[in-house]
Amino acid sequence: MQPEIFPVMLVGAGPGAADLLTIRAARAIESADALLYDALTCQEVLDLAPACCLRIQTGKRSGQTSMKQETINRLMLRLARRGLKVVRLKGGDPSVFGRVGEEKAFLAAHGVPAEVVPGITAASAAAAQFGFPLTHRGEARRLLISTATVTDGGLLQGGWASAADPETTLALYMGRDRAAEIAAELIGHGRSAATPAIAVENAGRPHARAISATLGDLATVLEAARPTGPMVLIVGEVASQAEVAALPLPLPRLMRRA
Ligand code: SAH
Repeated sequence: MQPEIFPVMLVGAGPGAADLLTIRAARAIESADALLYDALTCQEVLDLAPACCLRIQTGKRSGQTSMKQETINRLMLRLARRGLKVVRLKGGDPSVFGRVGEEKAFLAAHGVPAEVVPGITAASAAAAQFGFPLTHRGEARRLLISTATVTDGGLLQGGWASAADPETTLALYMGRDRAAEIAAELIGHGRSAATPAIAVENAGRPHARAISATLGDLATVLEAARPTGPMVLIVGEVASQAEVAALPLPLPRLMRRA
């Protein structure tokens, strides 16, 4: 007899603190038979899975080798077909640079349903933790989420014009090492070099760090700060509202320029 096939759960793990998971995400993890997780997933979240749950790490930090997407897809399929409750955990929100569309389409093409559980994306976690909004009436009318890497469809020709609009908040993922190029493009397309910017490393985690700058000196400030963790870059007027005083404990560090 064929085993019952459960939908594969594509679950947002949030930015890396267990209390920033949704209840639905926590429940999915707690009842998982097999957990496929990215390198950025925190231990506290992994610990929610039952002791007998199969845990498989699928990704390493950028620059190192990761499991190929095709391998991950086939693995999810094989485990689901065995009748296991498969949870594919993704950092942040699975629908933001999380390949959720590809994985869902692959599973559907093989007759396995998938369900997406949203998560808190890095930009939202950064904004909440450091006390600034992503949109602000009369000042930031739109939020543009993009990546600086070319392979994932970074800002292309048309994209720079809207990113350079003074009322756009730009949230750049995977841009930590491309700050100089991004700033040059934005300034070249008319965004003021004086635009406030904030780079948030390890957003949502207790050891988060925010580095404030302007678009013009972002790359230099970042170079001096030597970040090593995942980092989201926020460019826009809203970044000037970043505050450390209004924050709950544990107090994240906010570095201001000298
Ligand atoms: N799905 C994720 C994004 C995955 S792409 C989300 O919604 O957040 C990976 C990039 O996300 C990293 O290079 C970094 O730019 C950003 N990122 C992920 N977690 C982060 C965190 N805790 N703090 C800051 N940036 C983070």
